[in-house]
Amino acid sequence: MDFTRANELISRVEKSLNETGKFNKSEELLVGVDLGTAYIVLVVLDKEMNPIASEMQFAQVLKDGLVVDYIGASRIVRELKARLEERLGVELLKAAIAVPPGTSERDSKTHRYVVEGSGMEVTAILDEPTAANAVLGIENGVIVDIGGGTTGLSILEDGKVIYTADEATGGTHLSLVIAGNYRIDFEEAEKIKKDKDRQKEILTIVRPVIQKMATIVREHVEGYDVDDIYLVGGTCCLDDIEEVFEKETGVRTTKPKNPFLVTPLGIAMNCRIREVI
Ligand code: ATP
Repeated sequence: MDFTRANELISRVEKSLNETGKFNKSEELLVGVDLGTAYIVLVVLDKEMNPIASEMQFAQVLKDGLVVDYIGASRIVRELKARLEERLGVELLKAAIAVPPGTSERDSKTHRYVVEGSGMEVTAILDEPTAANAVLGIENGVIVDIGGGTTGLSILEDGKVIYTADEATGGTHLSLVIAGNYRIDFEEAEKIKKDKDRQKEILTIVRPVIQKMATIVREHVEGYDVDDIYLVGGTCCLDDIEEVFEKETGVRTTKPKNPFLVTPLGIAMNCRIREVI
C-alpha cells in the first residue's frame, strides 16, 4: 500500500493545528467533527480539500463511542469551533460527523445534536471506517481503528465495506495498565504512553493488551479473504504496534503517518456528501 498521498495530507493537517492556511473567505469550507472517547478533533478544509485549520482537545465526554456528557461535549465543540472561527475570520456553517459502526440511529442523533448545538448544520453522518478510507483509499483489506475506548474494524472488498465490528478495548485500557504498573494516575500514564522516547519500554508493558486487540481482529476476519490490515486511530501511533498485530494475526499490517488524524481528516473530506447511516 502506498501511503504517499495520505501521508502528505495528514502532514498538512498536523501543520494546520498550529498554522492557519490561506483561503478565499467567500468559499464554502468543509468541516469534520470527530467526537471521540479521548479526543474531540475539528478539521477544516478549503473547497479543494486542503487542510487549513484544526483544533483538538482531550475530553472524556463519550464512552464506548456514545455521548455520556452531552453538556460537556457541546461546550467543547462550541469552544473549538470558536477558536477556529477566530483563527479563520469566518463563520463555520456546515460539518460532517462520524460514529462507530453499528451505532443506533438514536445515538447517532445525539452526536448530531451536539454538533448542531454549536451552530453548524450536519451535512453527513458517516461510519468511522468509511471516513478513514476517504483518506486511505483502500480497495481490499481490513481497516482497524483503535481509538480511546474501542477497537473498530471494517473489512473492505472492491472498495465496499462488507463487514464491521466494534469492541470495547482501546487506548484507555493501555493507559490503565501503565498506571497500574507504575502506580501512577491515569493522566500521568497517558503522558508516558505518548512520549516517543518511552515507547519501547511502554510496548513491553502493554503488549498483552495489544495482543488481545489483535486477537479480536483475527477472530472477526476469520472466513474472509484478508491480505492486509491497515491501522488507524490514536492508539496506533504507538511505535511497533503494527509488528505485534502482524505476528498475532499472520496478516501483513501497515499504518500511515500519524494514524490519529486519519479519521478526523476523512470526516471533513465527506462534508459535502449527504449520507444517513
Ligand atoms: P474512540 O474512537 O474510541 O471513540 P477517540 O476517537 O477519542 O476514541 P482517537 O482520537 O483515535 O480515539 O485516539 C485516542 C487514543 O489514542 C487515546 O487513548 C490516546 O491516549 C491515544 N493516543 C493518542 N496519541 C498517541 C500516541 N502518540 N501514542 C500512543 N497513543 C496515543
